[in-house]
Amino acid sequence: MNRRTQILALAIISFLAGSTLVYSIMYLRNPRDSSTNPGSMTHPVDFSSNLEVLQSTKYRGSAYPAQLQVTSNTTATLNTLQLTVKDPLYNRVGSQNISLSQQISSGDTTFNITIAPSFPGLDGVVVADPATSYTIMNYTVFLNTTEIYSFSKTQTSLDLHTLEAPLYDQAESLAWNTTSQSAIITANNGNITIQSVQQSNFALSTMINATGYTRIDLNATFPPANASFNFLVNQIPIFPSPDGYLPIGNFLGMQNFSIIGTIAASSSISLQVHLMTRHVVLFAAMADNHFGGRSADQFKFRTPDYYVKQASYQFHKIFNLTIYPAITVNMTNPVSTDLAAFRQNAMHTVGQSLGLVNDTWSLVSGTSSANKGYDVLLIFTNHTMDHLGIVYGNSSGAFNLAINARGTQYTGNYRLPPSFADNLLQHEFSHVLGAPDRFTGSSLPSVMTKPETVQDALNGFATGTFWLELTHWLEPDIQTMTGVLRLLYWPVV
Ligand SMILES: [Zn+2]
Repeated sequence: MNRRTQILALAIISFLAGSTLVYSIMYLRNPRDSSTNPGSMTHPVDFSSNLEVLQSTKYRGSAYPAQLQVTSNTTATLNTLQLTVKDPLYNRVGSQNISLSQQISSGDTTFNITIAPSFPGLDGVVVADPATSYTIMNYTVFLNTTEIYSFSKTQTSLDLHTLEAPLYDQAESLAWNTTSQSAIITANNGNITIQSVQQSNFALSTMINATGYTRIDLNATFPPANASFNFLVNQIPIFPSPDGYLPIGNFLGMQNFSIIGTIAASSSISLQVHLMTRHVVLFAAMADNHFGGRSADQFKFRTPDYYVKQASYQFHKIFNLTIYPAITVNMTNPVSTDLAAFRQNAMHTVGQSLGLVNDTWSLVSGTSSANKGYDVLLIFTNHTMDHLGIVYGNSSGAFNLAINARGTQYTGNYRLPPSFADNLLQHEFSHVLGAPDRFTGSSLPSVMTKPETVQDALNGFATGTFWLELTHWLEPDIQTMTGVLRLLYWPVV
């Protein structure tokens, strides 16, 4: 697309983004179907339908509300709505099936549906790029009466758009309680000034929502020359990092945040508090080598997207981060127990399936265009490999590929039980965001803290602190991962 065409396209996108588009078509029963079911010929069936996308622009990872209206002159069972989407940026096509499963009678029937942002069929399109539009080119309604009929609408256009979720500052709606001996305190949302004519003690407190962000940014130098401060969350002291923020990752929900201190005589200090948050959504492609349960398995494992959703819950709770399981690509068995070789195979299998450059997954992180909208590749195998999991990537500190295996030869052919699968994924994905391995000899228990000795492992099982039973992180790792997320997906503010 040349520059002028891009500008024109953007103008059209801007125009379309605010409007709701409707199309309709009259369907006539396909005469080719009649020969397979002559009985149905006695009641020719006419259908018409409208598909309307009620909100065509949504934040990344959100579903699009839509309505399908079907008009029929007879009873029929509508099974499935299949949507086909084109991604004009990469000239790829994807499809999505939406279950309808409802009998309709003659007249109008309205279905309220939601269109997910991933279209895993065909090339595997995901609505990821705010700079382009994704076009619903046609849809097919599958009907099941005595046989399957399908009614298609081709060559139409209904566009879907996405936006990055906004960065916002929760400190813009803080209400402060202030007390002081003699200082004058002005606390207006995140802006605080304290002035004194004589030395004075002071205290400020407010309620903060500690879900979805992990640090309080302080726009001031600490300690200031003319005052002393203490910061507390629920009466527990917290200390500014050298970078000037307060780490509060392990506090969740509504918390009392307070500042107490002393200001010198004839002084004035100002402090800006920011509670920045943004919902980050990463689209995951999943390579699946029979990770889910099969009849021969002793334990019943679920499919990878089940564990991705479980791990995503933990990341959302602390980081306001969603790992969206967008597409699953099936893989053949590894030829060896070497995870590095298996990784190469997975990158190629997924690259071919998604039509990526050079038919391979790109290890460039921090840009979804490298993998045509997908942010991270998660590889799952039911085989016993040389590690339980591995993360690969470039050297910038953030990676975009993680492997989860169900067994390792390093600890006596240990097999992963199903209940540990989400913990392992959480552990590996934490590496993707830069968290290091920790060990029982030097760190407190956490999802990153692996046993150094057999006795450590036994102790962990006895006390419920074995790393694959845990879902919490240590504060320094929360801060490391927050920093990586900020580098990759947060604009400088
Ligand atoms: Zn590890």
